[in-house]
Amino acid sequence: MAITQVAIIATTVYLHRSLSHRALRLSPAVEMCFRSILWLTTGIKRQEWVGIHRLHHAYTDVEGDPHSPVIEGYWRIQLLNVVYYRRAAKRRASIQRYTRDLPLDWLDRNVFSRSLAGLAIGIALLVLLFGPVMGALIALLHLCFYLTLSGAINAIGHTFGKRPFDNLATNNQWLALLTFGEGLHNNHHELPTSAKLSTSRSQVDPGWYFILLLRRLGLAKVRMLRRDRQPT
Ligand SMILES: [Zn+2]
Ligand SMILES: [Zn+2]
Repeated sequence: MAITQVAIIATTVYLHRSLSHRALRLSPAVEMCFRSILWLTTGIKRQEWVGIHRLHHAYTDVEGDPHSPVIEGYWRIQLLNVVYYRRAAKRRASIQRYTRDLPLDWLDRNVFSRSLAGLAIGIALLVLLFGPVMGALIALLHLCFYLTLSGAINAIGHTFGKRPFDNLATNNQWLALLTFGEGLHNNHHELPTSAKLSTSRSQVDPGWYFILLLRRLGLAKVRMLRRDRQPT
């Protein structure tokens, strides 16, 4: 679960809030740390993730959305999110069009694009630390947790929960606690460039506290922070 949470922090803070929406800027050292973590724990290619996510914002719950439970049904996205992600990753031209600000660098081309190598090294490290049986079990559990929670953000986050703002996404505080804030998805669709996903004192966005810590350490600059918007 700790490994999954680390992978989720890298996903929400780096891939989502920083790269996809440019809501904050991270120091090069922190970026490299997140890129390495994502390579070892998920094998995600950052251009693919950002392109698919921006497509989701551009075509939310209409034709063209890579993973809409409104179109595909709740269970298909909850259980097969990764299949929809892989399918969307084949829309090369769209992804390139949506990630012109994120060109491939040397590390993307030569290291981080090798997803299977990253995952194999990640699993090898677990085996070295915990032995072959526990290492394999931890890797398997992490895979299940990460895929389930990613599916939940896309499926539950557009199906069940509160809609304080007038958009199709939903807020689920319990999911936000499991996903470093991503469960506050209705807020996010309303204010996509905000680094902070909570909009009231009663909501908790653990990812925001992590960003505040990075900022305190001089490792992050928050670029856009909306304080003025209230739900209607
Ligand atoms: Zn969404
Ligand atoms: Zn987003």
